[in-house]
Amino acid sequence: MADKLKTYRRKRDFSRTPEPKGGRGSDGPPMFVIQKHGARALHYDLRLEIGGVLVSWAVPKGPSTDPRVKRLAVRTEDHPMDYADFEGVIPEGEYGGGAMIVWDTGNYANAGELDLPAAVKKGHLKIALNGEKIKGGYSLLRTGAPSRASGRGGDKEHWLLVKMRDEYADARRNPVNSQPESVKSGRTLEQLARGKK
Ligand code: MN
Repeated sequence: MADKLKTYRRKRDFSRTPEPKGGRGSDGPPMFVIQKHGARALHYDLRLEIGGVLVSWAVPKGPSTDPRVKRLAVRTEDHPMDYADFEGVIPEGEYGGGAMIVWDTGNYANAGELDLPAAVKKGHLKIALNGEKIKGGYSLLRTGAPSRASGRGGDKEHWLLVKMRDEYADARRNPVNSQPESVKSGRTLEQLARGKK
């Protein structure tokens, strides 16, 4: 597990960032978190507990509740379990500098045929989320092998996040816009960035 977090630790200076170093384990059903992150470009970090770490994707537009909408999800480095609670401000100039809130969290279930690590490897996950804002089935599909194209993020896998058709599918609901606040503190990203308690 320490090995899985090598990239996470390499990217960060823990004497400067308030983010956790990692180490906590977990029991019970797997959990997920979606963090809203006001980095250079605003995005939502979807993280799924798989194999003792949080397997992570950056979703620029956040999850949709409309099954017709495909959302780009760029795979990022695995994060430690402790990260699921992280809400705070990463200093300017550090990796991922900007404010971050816990936008949604809960447990989830594997709704696919393969076990979760095998499904990640294969590039197709089917999951049923049970968050406060986001519920029901989602599919995550890798759209190609990571390219080694030059430039920032050129080696990152691109996936698509799509709502599955079930009773939670709703083309009109848009929790990304209508429920912007943290499920942990009730604060918005802007309030946290301004230091409001
Ligand atoms: Mn992020």
